[in-house]
Amino acid sequence: MTRSAAIQRAQQYFDDGALFADVARRVGRPTESQNPERAAELRDYLDSEMRPTLEALGFTCRVLEHPRAKGPFLFAERIEDPALTTVFSYGHGDVVPGMEGRWRDGLDPWALTPKDDRWYGRGVADNKGQHSINLAALKCVLETRGKLGFNVKYLIEMGEEMGSPGLLDLCAAHRDLLRGDVLIASDGPRLLAERPTLFMGSRAIINVDLEINAREGGHHSGNWGGLLSNPGIQLANAIATIVGPTGRILVPEWLPPALPDSVRRALADCALDMADGPAIDPGWGEPGFTAAEKVYGWSSAEVLAFVCGNPDKPVHAIPPRAWARMQLRYVVGVDPDAVVPALRRHLDRLGYDMVTLSSPRQEIAPATRLDPEHPWVQWAAASIVRTTGKKPALLPNLGGTLPNHVFSDTLGMPTLWVPHSYAGCSQHAPNEHLPVAIAREGMAIMAGLYWDLGEKAPA
Ligand SMILES: [Zn+2]
Repeated sequence: MTRSAAIQRAQQYFDDGALFADVARRVGRPTESQNPERAAELRDYLDSEMRPTLEALGFTCRVLEHPRAKGPFLFAERIEDPALTTVFSYGHGDVVPGMEGRWRDGLDPWALTPKDDRWYGRGVADNKGQHSINLAALKCVLETRGKLGFNVKYLIEMGEEMGSPGLLDLCAAHRDLLRGDVLIASDGPRLLAERPTLFMGSRAIINVDLEINAREGGHHSGNWGGLLSNPGIQLANAIATIVGPTGRILVPEWLPPALPDSVRRALADCALDMADGPAIDPGWGEPGFTAAEKVYGWSSAEVLAFVCGNPDKPVHAIPPRAWARMQLRYVVGVDPDAVVPALRRHLDRLGYDMVTLSSPRQEIAPATRLDPEHPWVQWAAASIVRTTGKKPALLPNLGGTLPNHVFSDTLGMPTLWVPHSYAGCSQHAPNEHLPVAIAREGMAIMAGLYWDLGEKAPA
């Protein structure tokens, strides 16, 4: 009954094909949450896949629903002793559309296929493979030790790919039932495929639409040019006051007050390697920042779309209207409720009061981040070093967005995410895949973490 025996059992589970079988069964269920015809599949994933798996591990399960949710949630708990540490975990069983017919070599998104040291299938990275690894590692630790030595609460959501409707309300309504001492869960990508990673929060997003409606209809540019204002020119100039010519954000309320020292120190060890993607533009974004600081430590703003006139068929007229959608991704330190009002004041001050602002339907969430020097982070990092011999990347928050505020703010837990995927996994496109090396290492990492939780967890 040792730590290494638990890790060995987890690796054996992988090597025997047992993890592949788990993931294959789950990928075989077309749980597309954006497809109304799949509603029964969503419920069935919980009833006939997750529930039996969790009950076999000694969990008590119940389905939770909320009127604002689009799908059911499964809540499972395994309490050995209320005095022990309670770990909260989360996974989502829904996936984005399969995009059948668009996969390489005619691959079927609903059949897990091994190929080139990867497993291909819809949901294998986001998120079925990731929660399957965690549940399998939990099983291996339980079988090795005969007990866990800690309590577990597990929440499986079926609406994450629709933006997690109702998740916040559900967690607020069942705060005492759901709350644990720490969240340890898996989603999202590692910093680099070969490097174990911990991230402790996420950036958040606000989209805002800018529009100028000058008048009814277009007017001939030969007769009216120089006399009538052009909304396209006005909107382009307005945007240029929001983000400078090299992508620097110029609205102070859109930026955090500073990059904390502990975040800077953690990111100094997180060099990006975007070798598989387009070349990075070094002069773009916040001047003087490293690439990691730009993505993980700071805000970034984009123009997602800009329309004026008829782009498919330009005519010799002053267009009556221009419209753009901008997006702000922000970190802790930016007040989400201040973002749009600050933009309004900024535009008014500079004379752009003709620009109207509106926010597309969205839930405004705060950004979250746990200090990289928090005791739980240091504990988890030490466990991963002990298991893999590799120093994990410690990302204060993900560059992308997860509903982490529900866990960190509403449920009030420190949040540790241990991703078992990488940026090139094509999670929302055809050819979603999971490298087998990450899956196998993920089994070991999770077995080590669960083992260590039963030994001595931070107070
Ligand atoms: Zn996703």
